[in-house]
Amino acid sequence: MKPFSYERASTPAQAAAAVAARPGARFVAGGTNLLDLMKLQIETPPHLVDVNGIGLDRIEPTAQGGLRIGALVRNGDLAADARVRRDYGVLSRALVAGASGQLRNMATTAGNLLQRTRCPYFYDTNMPCNKRVPGSGCSALGGANRTHAVVGGSDQCIATHPSDMAVALRALDATVETVRADGATRVIPIADFHRLPGNTPQLDTNLQPGELITSVTLPAPLGGTQAYRKVRDRASYAFALVSVATVLQRDGTGRVALGGVAHKPWRVEAADAELPRGARAVAQRLLAGAHPTEHNAFKLALAERTLAGALAERRS
Ligand code: SF4
Repeated sequence: MKPFSYERASTPAQAAAAVAARPGARFVAGGTNLLDLMKLQIETPPHLVDVNGIGLDRIEPTAQGGLRIGALVRNGDLAADARVRRDYGVLSRALVAGASGQLRNMATTAGNLLQRTRCPYFYDTNMPCNKRVPGSGCSALGGANRTHAVVGGSDQCIATHPSDMAVALRALDATVETVRADGATRVIPIADFHRLPGNTPQLDTNLQPGELITSVTLPAPLGGTQAYRKVRDRASYAFALVSVATVLQRDGTGRVALGGVAHKPWRVEAADAELPRGARAVAQRLLAGAHPTEHNAFKLALAERTLAGALAERRS
């Protein structure tokens, strides 16, 4: 690990200012991904700003009937919150499907959104990777790419986003609130928070340097039957090959988002309109224009079947 300096912030504004003052500085909270990346020298921030003492660790009702989740609420606490379990079952189930109990007790809401791809070449510093070293090439394009994206990729990167929580947030149309060092705040729809790789695969999100996530807001409860189905190579502690988040209403309408298929949580609003026609119609619309590789084409059929299972959970 490269040497770095460290400080603890006591307010969000102080944290944002501290990171803005040091080029390359990073926020750290649970550290469940960042510290691994630092040990492997994939990320080498010269300075860490610990945000564990800045508050933002509560889940509060909003005036609109939803919930505001502080950026530092731990994944385990969020999954277990009675309001989340009752009104946002898709989110609770997605959280429990992620990582391990130990990691969920450390990982935060903001950190979950900011975790980086688990593409094996991203973690192998002997191999070219445009996300790690822009312009160096993409080892996955002609390599082992069974777990990679089938839609939304580019000739620069076909990595997937690893978060389960973010897929549920996409189905719920959550928003992400941030603050910058100058005190400016903004609200980012979750649909616009993560990026597709394009020609800049090194950028995972649309956050600006030094911009601090302060909370994630859920809309008023959507009701319906909510499900999160995750298919992976082993029963626990593994990332999704394909996952499906659904919010299904009795009248046949609903929302669907996919994980494990793209560089960001994948939702195509037009696919929601296909729900009355069944899983095949929805999957075809969701994955229109897909460019699978020789090794991951199975994800197209897997997504349809996983979706069919989720649709079968709809209450009669
Ligand atoms: Fe790197 Fe993306 Fe290619 Fe993986 S898919 S090797 S993360 S550029």
